[in-house]
Amino acid sequence: MAKSVPLFINGEFRESKTSEWVDVTNPATNKVIARLPCSTPDEMQQAVDGALSAFKTWKEVAVPERARLMLRYQHLLKEHHDELATLLSKETGKIILDAKGDVWRGIEVVEQAANIASNMMGEVVENVATDIDTFSVIQPLGVCCGITPFNFPAMIPLWMFPIAIASGNTFILKPSEQVPLTSIRLAELFKEAGAPEGVLQIVHGRKSEVDFLLEHKDIQTISFVGSVSVAQYIYQQGTQHFKRVQAFAGAKNHMVVMPDANKEQVVSNLVGASVGAAGQRCMAISVAVFVGDSKAWIPDLKQAMSKVGPGAWDDDDAGYGPLISKPAKERVLRLIAEGKAQGAACELDGSECSVEGYPDGNWVGPTLFSNVSTDMSIYTEEIFGPVLVCIEVDTLQDAIDLVNRNPYGNGTSIFTANGGAARKYQHEIQVGQVGVNVPIPVPLPFFSFTGWRGSFYGDLHAYGKQAVRFYTETKTVTQRWFDDDIPTGPNMTIQLR
Ligand code: NAD
Repeated sequence: MAKSVPLFINGEFRESKTSEWVDVTNPATNKVIARLPCSTPDEMQQAVDGALSAFKTWKEVAVPERARLMLRYQHLLKEHHDELATLLSKETGKIILDAKGDVWRGIEVVEQAANIASNMMGEVVENVATDIDTFSVIQPLGVCCGITPFNFPAMIPLWMFPIAIASGNTFILKPSEQVPLTSIRLAELFKEAGAPEGVLQIVHGRKSEVDFLLEHKDIQTISFVGSVSVAQYIYQQGTQHFKRVQAFAGAKNHMVVMPDANKEQVVSNLVGASVGAAGQRCMAISVAVFVGDSKAWIPDLKQAMSKVGPGAWDDDDAGYGPLISKPAKERVLRLIAEGKAQGAACELDGSECSVEGYPDGNWVGPTLFSNVSTDMSIYTEEIFGPVLVCIEVDTLQDAIDLVNRNPYGNGTSIFTANGGAARKYQHEIQVGQVGVNVPIPVPLPFFSFTGWRGSFYGDLHAYGKQAVRFYTETKTVTQRWFDDDIPTGPNMTIQLR
């Protein structure tokens, strides 16, 4: 029988006592590689109790000491970078290059967490009235919680717990039931780095275990990343239970191509940004908006896309891996079929796709549609597969209006040689992360990950300064000291310890 995934509670990796298990499969073979327990209510409660008790001491640990834990953790993650990437490849199917990127983007957040002191600085105004000063400090909240998706098993948990913990909180992670193994390895290394018991807890499960966390009175914050319907549910339920919630949701990211752009750059960046990681990136470009004569480049795009194909994680020639699951593949195939039925021109059809040696993998080939209109389901729905749809418009203003009418606002980019066009686009677009001649503008962690509109529910975003604000509360102190109370004369000595 496949090995079971442990829970991580109070510093121990332990087998669950549950009777409810979920299979974890390798998406390239659909073979079961592990069994995931749905944690029992008792185990969930132990995780919360342990995190609450650890918070009492962890919040008093000096900030530089908390930062040092992150420095040691960063060192270990770097040392185990390739091993983590290999493990991650096996559970997601990602090609090794993408898997390494996934781990590396997470390490960068740990580096930011090591910089915690400068992000925890408060504010002071002296003399708000005579002899009165006001200052503010930020303090941790308590037990924070994270619920993560399948598509970045290293990066997204690392978006959350290092900054929450460096800020003085304790953290309960519920990783995706489809990819729990990387999270467990991340926790093993965190323990090895010296994390005290209970500071990070890992529970497993699906909706009912998430509901337990959403409703628990001792949990202060919920960080969620995943699909739109679940993000909306998490936001509603979490806030209804008076928690601070940040919920990162789905996306439909447009790249606007101006006729003055560099054609080679446009074509190669569109291919990588749309089918890379099998299109299973929340910042993947899924819509190319060709302005004016740039539509003449669609045949070049088709040719470049047709040269890329999926393959196993360790195949150096593979452009990307399989979709995460059979249902995910069925969904993508359903949308491709709808695109054809609704009248879009399928320039390249990846529905029938096989990879030698892996007859049971969830493969989909690169797929390109032109003549797409905004009422077609390939435009309105997030496909989350290696599918790019092309829309043609006459002017930059038409492109801006189109993108702004779309309900999502995670990422977008414009390719142009004209600074004025780039400036107008960047300024007027209602999307939270904008690239100029950069296809996937994911900010490094000293900034924040700032999706907008239907791609985000909440106020404060992931990582960067905003994450520290999310995981802390501000306390404002107004103080007055009286000159009359200052002792004078020979008795005024200060004992230095
Ligand atoms: P998902 O919503 O199916 O699952 C995410 C998490 O929610 C998992 O841990 C899962 O166990 C839990 N969950 C699932 N159904 C639930 C329910 N009914 N109630 C409570 N919890 C539930 O998402 P996924 O398929 O793992 O991830 C892909 C999605 O994530 C895509 O839509 C993608 O765009 C999105 N995503 C967004 C971002 C972003 O930053 N905006 C980043 C990565 C992924």
